[in-house]
Parts: sequence; C-alpha cells; structure tokens
Amino acid sequence: MADLEFFGHIVDNEEVESIDGTRFDVWNPWKREVWAQAAEGGEKDADRAITSARKAFDEGPWPRMGRVERAKMIHKLADLMEARADEIATLDSTNMAKPFEQAKHDVARSVWNFRFFADHQRDSVGEVYPMDSGHHSYSEFGPAGVVAAISPWNFPLMMASWKIAPAIAWGNTCIIKPSEDTPASVTYLGGLAAEAGFPPGVLNVLNGYGHPAGSTITGDDRVDRVTFTGSSTTGKAVMASAATHLAPVSLELGGKGANIVFADADMDNAVYWAVEAIFRNAGQICLAGSRLFVQDAIYDEFMKRFVDAAEALTIGDPFDPATKFSSLASKRHFDKVVSYVEGARDLGGTFHTGGIAEDGSWVVKPTIIDGLALDAAPYCEEIFGPVCVVNRFETEEEAVHLANDTRYGLNAMLFTENLSRAHRVASKLRAGTVWVNCFFIRDLRTPFGGVGDSGVGREGGNFSREFFTEPKAVVMQISS
Ligand code: NAD
Repeated sequence: MADLEFFGHIVDNEEVESIDGTRFDVWNPWKREVWAQAAEGGEKDADRAITSARKAFDEGPWPRMGRVERAKMIHKLADLMEARADEIATLDSTNMAKPFEQAKHDVARSVWNFRFFADHQRDSVGEVYPMDSGHHSYSEFGPAGVVAAISPWNFPLMMASWKIAPAIAWGNTCIIKPSEDTPASVTYLGGLAAEAGFPPGVLNVLNGYGHPAGSTITGDDRVDRVTFTGSSTTGKAVMASAATHLAPVSLELGGKGANIVFADADMDNAVYWAVEAIFRNAGQICLAGSRLFVQDAIYDEFMKRFVDAAEALTIGDPFDPATKFSSLASKRHFDKVVSYVEGARDLGGTFHTGGIAEDGSWVVKPTIIDGLALDAAPYCEEIFGPVCVVNRFETEEEAVHLANDTRYGLNAMLFTENLSRAHRVASKLRAGTVWVNCFFIRDLRTPFGGVGDSGVGREGGNFSREFFTEPKAVVMQISS
C-alpha cells in the first residue's frame, strides 16, 4: 500500500485528507489493479468545501477582480496545463485506460475550454436599450455565486474543465466533485490552480461518491448553481436536490446518437467517422454514434467496410502508441456493457464483429450488431460502450423517423453529398447537435446540450454566460 498514489480534496488551495481520514481505492482498469487511493468525502467534507467557496465568493478578491486580470490568471492555469500535458494525460490514461494519444487530445481541449471562457468573459458586453421615456437602460452580467459542478469518468479532465472554466471565468467560485472512478486528473488540476496563483477557495475539489459527497453539495442552500454531467437517472436526482433550494441546474446527460448514412455519402469519410463515433474512447462517449442507419442501396458494402475498419483497430495497453482501443474504464462498467452484449445475442441480434474479449481483461471488442427489434434494450438504451446497433432504411422520411425514435436527443450525424438534403434532415432531427459529414467538432460559442432525457439547458459561449451569471437590468433617468 505504501507505493500507492494519493488524491486528496483540494480546499483553500491545500490538498487535504477527509476529516475522518476515510479513503477509497482507485483502479487502473487496464492492469486490473488498485494504483491509488483518494479521500472519500462525507457530509463534513462537503460542508468544508462549501464554506471555503462561499467565503471566497463573499469576501475574496475573485468576483471583484477586473475581467482582464481574471482572464490572465486563467490563461496562466492553461499555460501550466500545457506544460504538464504529458503528466495529466498519464493520469487519465492510467485511471481509465484511455489511449494516451486520446488523453493528450483531451488535455488540449481542456486547455482550450479555459482559454476560450477566459477571453469570452473578458470581451463580453451587455446590451444597451435606448428608451423613449427619457431613461437609459442596460444589462450587465455579474457572477452568480458558488457553483457545484459534478462530472463523470469518461473524459475526466475535459468534462470537469467544461464546467469549471465558465464558472470561474465569470467570477464564481466552484466546487468540483469528479467521478469516484477518476479522481486523479481533476485533483491534479486543483493543485495547478493553486500554483497559478488562484485565491484560496476559488476552485475546491471534493472527492468521493455521488452520495453523500455529490448530493450534499447539490442540496446545500449556500450553492447558487448546479452544473452536472452524467447519466439521466442521476440527473433527475440532482435536479430534485437543487430544487430544494431553487438553484438553477444545467444537466448534460446520456445519449443514443443516430448516425445516418445516405447512399450518396462519401463512403470513405462516412466509414471513418462511423468508426470514430462509436469506437473512440471505447465508445464511452455520450455523443457516440451508437445507432447507425444505412440506406439500403449501400448497406452491404458499407457494412463490410465498417466491419473491416473496426477489426483493424489495435487493441491494447493505453500507453502503447499503436493502441487505438483499450479496456473499459472499470469492472462495474465492463459488467454493464457485457450484460447488453449478452442480451443482444439472446434477443437474436446478428453479430458482424466483436463481442467480449475472453482473456480476463475488461475489454469489449469493437462490436457491430444488426437485426435487433426496435424495442430491444441494446437497441434503445444507452450502452456507453463500443457497441454499434445498425439498421437499414429506404427513404429520407424513414431515416428521420428512426433517428428521432428515442427518448434521448443529444446529438445526431448525417452523411450525404446532397446539400439540400443535409439542411432538410438536420433541421428535422430532434437533437442538441447535428454533425453533417463529420463528428465531435465544436465551436465553443455554439449551444451544447440535449433534449428529452439528454439534458436540461445549454452551455457554451453566451449560453454559459446566461447560466453562470445573474443578468441585471439597470434603468437610469437621463432627462426629466
Ligand atoms: P453517473 O450519473 O453515474 O455519475 C456522474 C457523477 O454524478 C459522478 O461524479 C457521481 O459520483 C455523481 N453522482 C452520482 N449520484 C449522485 C447524486 N445522487 N447526487 C450528486 N451526484 C451524484 O454517470 P457516469 O457513469 O459517471 O457517466 C456516464 C454518463 O454520463 C453517461 O450516461 C453519459 O452519456 C453521460 N455523459 C454525458 C455527457 C454530456 O455532455 N451530455 C458527457 C459525458 C458523459
């Protein structure tokens, strides 16, 4: 045990143990061994983190600081992240078996989250409303207060930074509760914020389980905003908890993304993105293209090429540069994905490739299945693993109907070379984001979020400003 890493809570810029000294084990899923321990936050630890963030907001310099100065400090944090990118990526790769090159990409996107929101708040302007009554009116955007942020394990650093960056950029103080499966990189980030010179209490990290650590911060009336990324089931509990003290919530939840490939698509491009969309990060992506719809005329050819490309992915150690695909992030999650894969066999699905690796690892191979009924659980529920369910369609109307036949609505993709069809179908898809002939590309100014069970609210650019600030109207008499 002596050699294990330790990830404490970060409170007032110090890394600390839980008040009662409790810890939990943190796993390396590729090696299937415990490699670290983390402080297990209880109610008292949550209270300590909230007290710190509240004091930093009510009395500290952060919300009172000029926008330019705040932006500079956030850029300094981003500089430190860039300088330590290998170290941070190593933490995420070790902690969840993410291929190292993908973890490096996540660090770069996390850095961009900080840089983007630092500049966005610095350059953001309110609106002026000239009034005929001899008054002048304008809006301004002040910080909301203390933000409770809760993040999942699939993009440990990136999802957390997507919440922390706009929260602190707008002058709030923040408590981030990372997933209990992946506390490493977020705790490290908390240390970097201290190193960058952030005032104590601006960014606190609370490690621990959803309950009591997460549920205590969402339910505390000293918290002014709750931003959550995770499953739809937990999202509903988080919303109910925040409602007890009327804190606005932003919920980024699960998905079962549709990927529609029309017969007129650029086949090479469509195959490439179909593979990325469901097998990157071993399919543990809320935005995964997990339901694939292929037009009849190209079905057989597309499937052959899709299967070949999936089978060409090198499976292995996340630190081997050749690896494109590794094990699932935890035993608990592996068991869940396995139950869907076995369920798909029992329900008569046709496996074109994939299945469970029979070597004792927590690997589920890139799996492609068709022939499932439209109400079969693996077809309609979020598996959150490398399992693509495929269906065929004849007409555009049928494709739209199949794609929208889900309680989720986070994202969809479509591949076609027909411009009119691209616009027409994109506008009919019930989803927060639609990608045409691509996947995973984002401009951080655009709205991000989902409909139905995929979430509540939007973040990104001015949408984040709406959520993380208290917009205020000022009305001034200028002539009597
Ligand atoms: P999860 O809901 O199990 O946990 C998410 C976080 O919530 C964890 O930090 C957990 O400790 C915490 N939590 C659990 N119960 C809680 C409670 N009662 N109160 C407060 N916090 C609580 O989800 P997960 O398994 O970590 O992540 C996978 C899910 O996240 C998938 O459904 C995926 O689609 C979704 N996700 C969505 C997005 C998006 O942007 N929409 C991005 C990434 C992941």
